[in-house]
Parts: sequence; C-alpha cells; structure tokens
Amino acid sequence: AVEVRDLHKSFGDNHVLKGIDFTIEPGQVVCVIGPSGSGKSTLLRCVNMLETPTRGKVFVAGTELTHPDADIDRIRRHVGMVFQQFNLFPHLTALQNVMISQQRVLKRSKKEAEIIARENLDKVGVGAKCPAYPSELSGGQQQRVAIARALAMNPDLMLFDEPTSALDPELVGDVLTVMRKLAEEGMTMMVVTHEMGFAREVADRVVFMDGGVIVEEGTPSQVIGAPQHERTRTFLKRVL
Ligand code: ATP
Ligand code: MG
Repeated sequence: AVEVRDLHKSFGDNHVLKGIDFTIEPGQVVCVIGPSGSGKSTLLRCVNMLETPTRGKVFVAGTELTHPDADIDRIRRHVGMVFQQFNLFPHLTALQNVMISQQRVLKRSKKEAEIIARENLDKVGVGAKCPAYPSELSGGQQQRVAIARALAMNPDLMLFDEPTSALDPELVGDVLTVMRKLAEEGMTMMVVTHEMGFAREVADRVVFMDGGVIVEEGTPSQVIGAPQHERTRTFLKRVL
C-alpha cells in the first residue's frame, strides 16, 4: 500500500532524510521509533505530501504522489493522519468535527455524515460526547475524536505521529486500545511512537531511525528484543 524509494528531504542546508526506503503492505502496522530530530515526523509528513520530498518517490495505493501531475488532494483523502496535538476545531462539537470533512471533501449529505460520524465516535468509545466541545473533553477523548474524524473518511492508510505523547499517562491506554483494535481490523498503519509496549504487541515491523536514515528494521522481537546496532541499543536503553 505504501512504497517509499530513496526519499530525501532537506530544509535549506539541513539534510533531514538521507535516502529512506521501505514498503508497507496492506494490513500491516509499522512502528517508527528513534531519537528526537531523527526525521520521523518529516518522513510521515512526506508520505502524505504535507512536506514535498527533495528527492525520491512515494507511492500510496499504486499512485505516485511525487509525480508532478499527481492529484495530491484526491490521494490524501485516502490517508488519515493523527497528530500529537489533536487539532480539533475548537468552535465545533465532537460530532461536527467528525462531520465537516465528510461534507466538504467527500460531499456527503449532512444526514449521511452524521450517521457515519456517530458510528465512528461510538467505535472509539466517545459516542456519548457528540455534543461536547473540545475544551470540554479530556486529552484522551479529544484524541479519540481526532481518530474518529480520520476514520470517517474511510482511509486506506492511517498515519499516527506520537498520538499519545501529549496525554496524561492514565489516558494513554484508551487511545492505544483504539489503535490496537484498528490494527486487528486490518487497517494499514504507520505509527511514530515511543510506546514500546504497543510496538512490541501490535507492530508487524519496527523501523529504527537515527540521523535521517533507517538504521535497522525488522520484527519487534528483532529490533526491540535483539537490536543489532549500537545506536539502537543506546536509544532503547533510554526509552525502555
Ligand atoms: P521528535 O521525536 O522530536 O518529534 P522527529 O524525529 O519527528 O523528532 P523531525 O520533526 O522530523 O524529527 O525533525 C527532523 C529535523 O528536521 C529537525 O532538525 C528539525 O529541526 C527539522 N525540521 C522539521 N520540520 C521542519 C520545517 N518545517 N522547517 C525546517 N526544519 C524542519
Ligand atoms: Mg516528531
């Protein structure tokens, strides 16, 4: 479903991604780990072209996003993204937050958008919070609304950038439970996370990045359980 080939990204003189290659098959969950500044967010943002790669190719569902003629907006509709900061619209209720892109982007009727919004809010366990505004919700509830909003667009692929890092520790579990459920349902997912327990349990593959390259990748038991590289071991010692 996702293919990244020789991906480079520079910001001015700062060469952040230095040749990244990987593939995510449909239904796979790939967790990306690595130190701060290693380029994890930049990589994720290149996968849906929130950042334009300096060089290399990105394919999603067989379409080359990096092609000059690619219809990025159309492709992006099939990619859900969940950020560390939940980015809900503060002036809209939970229900309205999940309805708005469905109506504007997918041109669903108000009625249909509402039905789908309620289904997805139920699915992530915040169905009772439909009339609440973001300021009336806990961080974990806001993040689950953000996940419901992405799911309501029927994505083929979900990108998560440290979705639990801004949460109080006691709220992390609720969000991870929702993500685990999505993975079990067969959603293709790319997850930047520091939650090693989640990576171990849920990931099909773990990718360790440092300094803009993939240092090693493999199954969770390979990368987290028996890392081959010193840089991976040093990183894991700090986070485990
Ligand atoms: P963290 O774990 O702290 O989130 P990260 O691995 O996600 O780190 P990135 O956010 O991808 O790291 O940043 C990698 C490098 O790219 C950093 O040096 C950062 O300053 C730089 N960078 C990222 N986004 C931009 C931008 N929009 N403009 C300029 N430089 C940027
Ligand atoms: Mg980041």
